[in-house]
Amino acid sequence: MAAEIIDGKAFAADVRGRVAQHVAELKSVHDIVPGLAVVLVGEDPASQVYVRNKHAQTIEAGMESFEHRLPADTPQNELLDLIEQLNTDSRVHGILVQLPLPPHLNSELVINAIAPAKDVDGFHISNVGLLGTGQKSMVPCTPLGCLMLLRDRLGSLSGKDAVVIGRSNIVGKPMAQLLLRDSCTVTIAHSRTKDIEEVCRRADILIAAVGRPEMVTGEFVKPGATVIDVGINRIPAPEKGEGKMRLVGDCHFESCAEVAGAITPVPGGVGPMTIACLLANTLTACCRAHRLPEPEGLTA
Ligand code: NDP
Repeated sequence: MAAEIIDGKAFAADVRGRVAQHVAELKSVHDIVPGLAVVLVGEDPASQVYVRNKHAQTIEAGMESFEHRLPADTPQNELLDLIEQLNTDSRVHGILVQLPLPPHLNSELVINAIAPAKDVDGFHISNVGLLGTGQKSMVPCTPLGCLMLLRDRLGSLSGKDAVVIGRSNIVGKPMAQLLLRDSCTVTIAHSRTKDIEEVCRRADILIAAVGRPEMVTGEFVKPGATVIDVGINRIPAPEKGEGKMRLVGDCHFESCAEVAGAITPVPGGVGPMTIACLLANTLTACCRAHRLPEPEGLTA
């Protein structure tokens, strides 16, 4: 295996440590405690795990965590009332509504009800527009985490050829915008892209956000490229026992690592960066709300 393994777990721990240090300073100098409100509607098991982890890491960083668990049949108006209440609560600097929402709720409407300055997921249409026009915004956590890992490994990204596979609103598109803002030459590939392997082989930076287990093989990778695997897929692992599952990315790790210069593993790559960046965004939102300088190196 030729590639350097990018240790997202260690980098995320470092980000959380830097956030905690800023939070401690905010408390001691200004008597301000950043607060994150997480809203979970329903009982989706994966969402429950995410929300639990978010709560634990928010507390560990010294912030206040406000958890709101609502039944799966919560009417839309009730959810919108709660968001309105959180929008005006001065203890709350960040609001996150855990997705996916139950089908009777309109996710777009709900997300766009969050005050843009508190939208720490960066999904509000105002933040999408601000990012797209290169203005200060809240940046979606997963792409922000990928950007931090890339800047840490490569320094300046200016002039690099970047290919993002996937054009979702939560990963692919904001990732492409961030890379463009860092002066990469960006291509977005998707399910209709022709000769996708050839397109990807041009990339100095290859981001896989496809949702297809191990689709990206070594054939997609330019020798020496930096590969960021965003995918989280659960596949059967009969070798571990009947009914057991294991996590894999969107990249076939072994074959990509033969060719790449560096690669993120799954698990332990991008995944841990997502919550670390949620905490960083909450801190940033708090600093902006109080017109204090933003923490360096923790924003896009
Ligand atoms: P979506 O399903 O919303 O988007 C997938 C994208 O991949 C689409 O744009 C789709 O193209 C494209 N695609 C699908 N099949 C192919 C193919 N055969 N060739 C090329 N492109 C293809 O997924 P998300 O963006 O939400 O998530 C992507 C992955 O990232 C998932 O594995 C998800 O679990 C993971 N994820 C990880 C996070 C983390 O914290 N690490 C956070 C969020 C997501 P088209 O638009 O043409 O259909």
